[in-house]
Amino acid sequence: MTEAAAGFRCRACDGVRTTPRFTVDGYDLLRCHDCGSMTTAWTMPAAAASEYYGEAYFRGGDYRDYQGSANALRANFRRFADRLAAIETGGRLLELGCAYGYFLEEAERRWQCEGVDVSHDVVDACRRRTGCRVFAGDVIELPLEAGYQWIVAWDVVEHLDRPRDAVARAFDLLAPGGRIAFTTGDISSSAARALGPAWRLLTPPSHLTFFSRAGVRALLGDAGFVECALGTAGYARTFDFAMYRLLGERRYAALARRWPALVAHARRRSFYLNLGDIMFVTARKPHDRN
Ligand SMILES: [Zn+2]
Repeated sequence: MTEAAAGFRCRACDGVRTTPRFTVDGYDLLRCHDCGSMTTAWTMPAAAASEYYGEAYFRGGDYRDYQGSANALRANFRRFADRLAAIETGGRLLELGCAYGYFLEEAERRWQCEGVDVSHDVVDACRRRTGCRVFAGDVIELPLEAGYQWIVAWDVVEHLDRPRDAVARAFDLLAPGGRIAFTTGDISSSAARALGPAWRLLTPPSHLTFFSRAGVRALLGDAGFVECALGTAGYARTFDFAMYRLLGERRYAALARRWPALVAHARRRSFYLNLGDIMFVTARKPHDRN
């Protein structure tokens, strides 16, 4: 174990008993003995995150071309909005990590929407695209007005340095009876267990927590949530994005230079995939809590 790995608690359940399990791209990933989640032995404070998750992140990093994949993203977000609407519509909705606002565009018809993102650049673009109030900063510290019916975060909690504090803050901001919903990878899924260090979502340092189902239950239960429901989420992906993830950034760039027409075609086509390794989570704040 490197010196940096010492002293890291489990970001999911706050457990202190962790053991280094894999090293990916030079980062130690520590497995929690209590909940089975993994924590990247690395810290990304809010100030660093606001730099890291600027426009450049959305044109490389975990996405190849976030805005270029808008149609596939919207299709995913429409499905998410439908799943929420099947549970409850109306009231105020806050999205954490709203990026360019593609989900908020889908949600605006059903809820009075607001968004938060750490990146100022991205927040400006989101404000221009949507009619929503959008705040730049860390949800833990922003002076938001409580009383939301929904607080949602799509593929965001794994990026947070302090997910337990963020979920506790979401609990405080919800109206009594309000709900939280989020998606995140499932390290306890059969795909993740079969692939080990090669699982596609093991991407430190952008991903800081790899939640297990037990880890999500601890995260939500400790904050006071009830009726924790864990399903799975499928995603529409462009073929272009699949090639990027399979080939890696350098080989993908070489391919795009050599066969630009092929890559342009792949960018317009998408497919739907559910490997069962991404959780779709909802939970409720009790009515008698404020
Ligand atoms: Zn844990």
